Amino acid sequence: MSARVIDGKAVSAEVRERVRREVADYEAESGRTPALATVIVGDDPASQIYVANKHKACEAAGIRSVHHGLSAESTQEELLELIRSLGADDDVDGILVQLPLPAHLDSAAVVAALDPGKDVDGLTPTSAGLLASGAPGLVPCTPAGVIELLDHDGAELEGADAVVVGRSQLVGRPLASLLLGRNATVTVCHSRTRDLNAVCRGADVLVAAVGVPELIGRDAVKPGAVVIDVGMNRTEDGLRGDVDFEAVSEVAAAITPVPGGVGPMTIAMLLVNTLAAARARTGQAAKSAAGPGPRSAGKPV
Ligand code: NAP
Repeated sequence: MSARVIDGKAVSAEVRERVRREVADYEAESGRTPALATVIVGDDPASQIYVANKHKACEAAGIRSVHHGLSAESTQEELLELIRSLGADDDVDGILVQLPLPAHLDSAAVVAALDPGKDVDGLTPTSAGLLASGAPGLVPCTPAGVIELLDHDGAELEGADAVVVGRSQLVGRPLASLLLGRNATVTVCHSRTRDLNAVCRGADVLVAAVGVPELIGRDAVKPGAVVIDVGMNRTEDGLRGDVDFEAVSEVAAAITPVPGGVGPMTIAMLLVNTLAAARARTGQAAKSAAGPGPRSAGKPV
């Protein structure tokens, strides 16, 4: 095995520490503490764990977090009322609605009702539109984390051939926009792509966000490429990425492991977004706790 392993846990810890310091600066400048409101509808155990982890990370960074738990029987109007009241609450900087919502609720309408200035998951149509047009806004946490890992590893994005496998709203599309914003030449692949391996082999930077265990093998990777694996697939053999780590490590220059690669970055970037939202709302000079910063749509500031 020759590839450098990009350590997402270590990069995530660095980002969190930077956020913690910048939160302290922000408090000293503004006299207020950034706050994240989380919303869960129902009692899905996985959602409870994800949100509890986000609260712990907020606490460690000095960000106040407030939880709102609604019963599984809540109506669309009750949820929208809560979203609107959090949007109007001056003490709240970020709002996170944990998905998926119970089937009787319209997730798209709920997300669209979020105040875009507090959309720390970067999922509203406004955030998606700003990112697609290269304008500053809040960026989804996982793709922002991918860019942070690439920057940390020193990957040259300007002029690079970047291939993103996957075109979801959550990962593939926003990541393609971020890479384009960094002047990479971007190709997006999906389930109808002809000869996936051949397209991937053209990549200097290859990102897999598919949800198919070990889809990307050695034949899909150009020697010396940087490979980022977003996949998190639960298999009989445990958690697996979308990349065949052992085989690809023999040809890539650098690669992220699963677990311990992109996964730890997602919560770190949520903290970055919450601080960025607080700064933008209260008119504090936008500083970046991480590399290019989510409010710059991936462009260097
Ligand atoms: P998704 O919404 O299911 O999208 C998957 C994408 O992969 C789609 O665009 C699909 O193409 C494409 N695809 C499926 N099979 C393919 C194939 N055989 N060849 C080429 N493309 C194919 O998934 P997602 O939400 O983006 O998540 C992707 C993976 O990342 C999952 O494993 C998920 O668990 C993981 N993830 C991890 C994190 C993290 O924090 N690390 C965060 C989010 C997601 P079509 O559009 O044509 O259907």
